[in-house]
Amino acid sequence: LVQLSMPLNFMGMIYREIKQALIDIDDMFRILHRNPEIADRPNAPALVPGPAEVRFEDVHFAYNPDRPILRGVSFAVPSGKTVAIVGPSGAGKSTLSRLLFRFYEPQAGRITIDGQDIAAIRQDSLRAAIGMVPQDTVLFNDTIGYNIRYGRWEATEAEVREAARLAQIDRFIESLPEGYDTPVGERGLKLSGGEKQRVAIARTILKGPPILVLDEATSALDSFTESQIQDALDRIARGRTTLVIAHRLSTVVDADQILVLDKGVIVERGTHAALLDQDGVYAALWNRQREADAARAALRRAEEEA
Ligand code: ADP
Ligand code: MG
Repeated sequence: LVQLSMPLNFMGMIYREIKQALIDIDDMFRILHRNPEIADRPNAPALVPGPAEVRFEDVHFAYNPDRPILRGVSFAVPSGKTVAIVGPSGAGKSTLSRLLFRFYEPQAGRITIDGQDIAAIRQDSLRAAIGMVPQDTVLFNDTIGYNIRYGRWEATEAEVREAARLAQIDRFIESLPEGYDTPVGERGLKLSGGEKQRVAIARTILKGPPILVLDEATSALDSFTESQIQDALDRIARGRTTLVIAHRLSTVVDADQILVLDKGVIVERGTHAALLDQDGVYAALWNRQREADAARAALRRAEEEA
């Protein structure tokens, strides 16, 4: 019996190791935002740095051929400006960010940075120019310090701490017995959604890229954490070409332009004030969210009084 159970235990161990390795690889692709199916063209040049103007030109995209997701999307984010994308869940907002990162490629149309088609340049140079704070941050199975430093390996200890401070995660990290050496991820300390997002923000601050893509997922956070994260995001967006996918309209009021995406089509565009005047989809979204906020506030007051 001993002879038989030994190899079975061993097999179990190997099975678990392989399974964990597969999870790690899957995570790695998610963390690196890398799709193994997208390859660089032979001798593709690197992105030539410029003012960082981003342009989507009549972009069509589908994950599956029978279900179009983006149907002719065109817009520009001028150098240093902020364009916000709002719209119902499933409209294709996060898909736009994945295309800009070239995690997928459009079936028609093109995306350019300073006039250079991103399909024709090297992926590493593209991704070096873009800082992405995704909706759901996946952390490496490594220390929290490593996860921030991933933004820029050659950063000094002081720079890592400063990035953590700006992302308002420094005090949390310093409260941990192992501090920046605390293992996180699947096999380490489990961080909350808000903490993971702040690690991603710290990483992006450290990276300091000319282009920012923020897929805010602040709806799941309490309002205090949300306003803290909002401050951190506002700070890094200053002076950078920024595409912000906003789940809460209060965060887009100051954007240079707001795009309303619905079923893969931009149905309205303009500043907050212009869109309210237009009294269309955006105005309806805005009023609905204001009513929901008011109802929540009233509920909170009632709870506090009870
Ligand atoms: P949003 O961010 O506006 O909520 P997404 O861009 O994430 O929307 O998704 C747009 C549509 O594409 C959704 O219907 C979603 O289910 C679908 N989708 C997203 N990712 C994939 C994928 N990897 N494969 C197939 N369909 C996907
Ligand atoms: Mg999304």
